[in-house]
Amino acid sequence: MTRNHDLFRRAQELLPGGVNSPVRAFKSVGGEPFFTARADGACLWDVEGNRYIDYVGSWGPMIVGHNHPQVREAVERAVRDGLSFGTPCPAEVTMAETITRLVPSVEMVRMVNSGTEATMSAIRLARGATGRSKVVKFEGCYHGHGDSFLVKAGSGALTLGVPTSPGVPKANADLTLTLPYNDLAAAEALFAAEGEAIACVIVEPIAGNMNCILPRDGYLQGLRELCTRHGALLIFDEVMTGFRVAPGGAQQLYGVAPDLTTFGKIIGGGMPVGAYGGRRELMRLIAPAGPIYQAGTLSGNPVAMAAGLAMLELIQQPGFHAELERKTRLLADGLLTVAAEAGVPFSVNRVCGMFGLFFTDARVESYAQATACDTAAFNRFFHGMLKRGVYLAPSAFEAGFMSAAHGEQDIADTLEAARAAFREAKA
Ligand code: PLP
Repeated sequence: MTRNHDLFRRAQELLPGGVNSPVRAFKSVGGEPFFTARADGACLWDVEGNRYIDYVGSWGPMIVGHNHPQVREAVERAVRDGLSFGTPCPAEVTMAETITRLVPSVEMVRMVNSGTEATMSAIRLARGATGRSKVVKFEGCYHGHGDSFLVKAGSGALTLGVPTSPGVPKANADLTLTLPYNDLAAAEALFAAEGEAIACVIVEPIAGNMNCILPRDGYLQGLRELCTRHGALLIFDEVMTGFRVAPGGAQQLYGVAPDLTTFGKIIGGGMPVGAYGGRRELMRLIAPAGPIYQAGTLSGNPVAMAAGLAMLELIQQPGFHAELERKTRLLADGLLTVAAEAGVPFSVNRVCGMFGLFFTDARVESYAQATACDTAAFNRFFHGMLKRGVYLAPSAFEAGFMSAAHGEQDIADTLEAARAAFREAKA
């Protein structure tokens, strides 16, 4: 029995599905997950000593690579002064100054402990600020596991939402309206019918939870105008894209300012951190400045702030994002060539250090297209890559991430593995 298998067997007895977050269990690709013993640079090593070039990066945070000395040393320094104070600490102020400088639409910020907390809090603020109840989200976007987000569209375009998980009250789902992403006409029709009741639209400006789907030209601007016209707030969920696609996130890249933004992943440098922020008059409604309640025992934790600040310093180095983009292009172009050689229908979407692999000939711009791809081929490809030491996200609907630590040799090794894995994917 292998050590990975033994650990997974024990884990399944004690943790639901053997994991603490569902996608880690490999249910979508089949097989069993490996257990990581350590990580460094672009790579993970499992408990049996196998090495993997990692394009998951802890689902996004590890943009400078694993175990970066500057981040690790910042954490080590912070730890010496204590793990948690329960009082304000200086690093929280530096963090707020850094975020508001990098993302100008964010004039004030509140630190929390995960992306889920950030999005749940942001929609409470939107409801409190507007006095309205309904939340608009998009099919295929993910905003964490809050009740308001575990909802899909009902059968008709304007019908009430339906819970996607037992335990989400129907009454809650009734308040979430779900639209197709990248379809401005659908959003216009919904606002025409329900505009007065809509507190906010929450959107991943680049959709990274249905693989990687970029906004069509003018789409985000269109959502901005609709929200402004109808008095609803626009929330960009930049938990994944924040600091990754540009120092100021997708809103910098596309030149659209939301009212509120949610962050996670990179902002904590690998520690459990999230944040939400936006216009000053909105953020001043949050307790104790205002009446909308939101709190956290460990929020603004000094060790987590130290990790996040070190990470944010690294991503501001000149040329950081251009280099991520260059390497992602190298990988994407290489994969397209190798897939074509193997005769496999394949396309790639990418933006800076974020990419999506699709087993189809088409350029993918919608959730319907993403779900129509050949997931069985992806699953074979995933396992073909894994056994050759390349770890892609274990689902056809997750974005991939490049880090600053990936070198050209890592990319060349990845393409070499892909040459064989595409042949197997075709089988
Ligand atoms: N929002 C987006 C866009 C995400 O990708 C995620 C997680 O993947 C979340 C929110 C939830 O963040 P967390 O898993 O930290 O709760």
